[in-house]
Amino acid sequence: MTEPDARPRFPEVGGHPAFDLVDTVHWRLDESRAIETLTSFADVVAWCLQRGALGADPADLERLAREDPAAAAREHDAVVALREAVYEAVFEASASAVELIAREHVAALSRSTLVADAVSSTWSWRAPDDLSGPRTVVAFAAHDLLTSDLGAARQCGDDACGWVYLDTSPRHNRVWCTAAGCGNRNRVARHQARKKA
Ligand SMILES: [Zn+2]
Repeated sequence: MTEPDARPRFPEVGGHPAFDLVDTVHWRLDESRAIETLTSFADVVAWCLQRGALGADPADLERLAREDPAAAAREHDAVVALREAVYEAVFEASASAVELIAREHVAALSRSTLVADAVSSTWSWRAPDDLSGPRTVVAFAAHDLLTSDLGAARQCGDDACGWVYLDTSPRHNRVWCTAAGCGNRNRVARHQARKKA
């Protein structure tokens, strides 16, 4: 299930795993162009793997999903709902979205085990090895984002892109998700508009 390609399959411009998750929708602000890249439970597992956030063996999860496709589909739906809740909580101040994240976080804790780190002297929550593992990882990320300083939360300045990120630039003036992508495209478009005028 891992990609032999060295390039990351999912965008990593968010500055936080929960924002990177939101960015798995491309062209979010243009319904006619929007692309969903988390189309299945396998995609969710691949996303978690890219983040290095999955304790379980992906082959085991693949087998469990084959044995119970309905449960895997429910987990996929739940992760997508959590992703949308992150977006709506941060950018639309949605109370019901915050409630969902709170509920999922409590449920994630109840499914997890507090384990000692083998290397450092810390303890951390380990998600279960079953189909609910990815949703657990995502719920922890969503809660972590929501309870951190959101003063730097931004959305790309492009009309359609919709990617979100934490603006950690020194002057807090980052306008684009990527300078090479949306930044460049918008600069070129503006230049052409000026030339026409
Ligand atoms: Zn963008």
